[in-house]
Amino acid sequence: EDDLELLDAYESDAQATALVRPAPVLAIVGRPNVGKSTLVNRILGRREAVVEDVPGVTRDRVRYGAEWGGRPLTLVDTGGWDIDVRGMSSRIAGQAEIAVSQSDAVLLVVDVTTGVTSTDEHVVRMLRRAGKPVILTANKVDDERGEIQAAELWALGLGEPRTVSAMHGRGVADLLDVIMETLPEFSEVDDAEEPGGPRRIALVGRPNVGKSSLLNHLAKEERVIVDNVAGTTRDPVDQVVELGGKPWKFVDTAGIKKRARQASGADYYASLRTQTALERAELALVLLEANEPLSEQDIRIVRSATEAGRALVLAFNKWDLVDEERRHWLGREIEKDLAHVEWAPRVNISAKTGRHADKLVPAMEHALKSWDMRIPTSRLNAFLGELVAANPHPVRGGKQPRILFGTQVSSRPPHIVVFTTGFLDPGYRRFILRRLRETFDFTGTPIQLGMRIRE
Ligand code: GDP
Ligand code: GDP
Repeated sequence: EDDLELLDAYESDAQATALVRPAPVLAIVGRPNVGKSTLVNRILGRREAVVEDVPGVTRDRVRYGAEWGGRPLTLVDTGGWDIDVRGMSSRIAGQAEIAVSQSDAVLLVVDVTTGVTSTDEHVVRMLRRAGKPVILTANKVDDERGEIQAAELWALGLGEPRTVSAMHGRGVADLLDVIMETLPEFSEVDDAEEPGGPRRIALVGRPNVGKSSLLNHLAKEERVIVDNVAGTTRDPVDQVVELGGKPWKFVDTAGIKKRARQASGADYYASLRTQTALERAELALVLLEANEPLSEQDIRIVRSATEAGRALVLAFNKWDLVDEERRHWLGREIEKDLAHVEWAPRVNISAKTGRHADKLVPAMEHALKSWDMRIPTSRLNAFLGELVAANPHPVRGGKQPRILFGTQVSSRPPHIVVFTTGFLDPGYRRFILRRLRETFDFTGTPIQLGMRIRE
């Protein structure tokens, strides 16, 4: 059940290293239908990214691990980019903008068969502001004729347009050489965006659970909800609120209300907003409705938060509506459906009356402290030594895997790797996790436990 916390064994030292020094990130941007997915598939050498023949089909940012010349890179496919359409497409543009800010270089894909559009020009301006290296690619250059059309793209002022046919593979190897020359060896993206700034919170939960009410209560004012126009800075969608004497940044708060009431695409929109907010946040404050049974959607949102590796606090809202009987059932539901996050602090609040809203801050602080925690290698190995001595791994087929040593390779969230002489049972790994949580107090953070088998 809590497989999220158990990673598979790493196949190579390079893989284990990549956890500490992540591969460089290439964001792929461009208007819808220029062939971004086709190019991603070509680079991956398989059909994995979704290719749609419908202009304007939107999709999430998707990350793929790729390799060229024995070097790893991460591709981020950003979906369509169309600034002329408001609403959902501008949200996707926002996604692309975030992807750019979290990349080491950008591949701008233009379709030679349609040429440069005003959207392309707008994108170029945005990319200039972002200050990342940009590689310009002219796609759909299926033959010599396209080369001539591609020459027009010099006008974008991004240097030489690299011509490819994503569909037929023409020019893609040369393009990859240029990409690898442009990218640093390891990612230099600082994912601790705005160091020293306020902690970043994603307030998430299904529609009508009380997110806006809570935010309004915390901010103690009716907020004006700003419409984030694509291409402008993404900051207006965030809101900084002072709580317990400290500023906290609630990310993508504009997305909380915007369009939530619109019938068509509302679910898609809500889940997209949840994903974006989670990716930018350090902690997920998941709001659940205390007076109604937990729904599948609730569980899915909790799962997205842990999968995104965020610190987690569960807030049961509308507590003013909860009676004794409901309280009883809620306890049962939590045991059944939220057992995999029993480590997350739970707070019972009412956005309406303000009940216990002051308990949110200590819960969030505790969770973030765990999320940031680094256990010194010596302490970790003392712990593992004692644990293994008292509870050795069961013998399997005459063999007994031994734990050689362990190390915490990263934090935010904590990621621990144990080096072993054989495959550890999932049950035994869960046991290690449980003991880790008890010993070091990892309240409020998911933990990743990986295994590296030494022959
Ligand atoms: P995206 O929206 O930018 O990801 O575009 P897709 O990868 O979904 O491609 C849009 C359409 O362009 C699809 O019908 C592709 O088959 C087509 N396409 C992509 N690359 C090429 C190419 O190199 N040459 C030609 N002729 N068509 C292409
Ligand atoms: P959102 O869609 O998650 O932003 O939810 P809203 O903040 O718009 O709240 C949806 C409805 O629930 C509104 O009618 C609120 O007044 C109501 N609501 C929110 N919090 C509470 C609460 O703590 N108690 C009660 N009784 N109602 C609440």
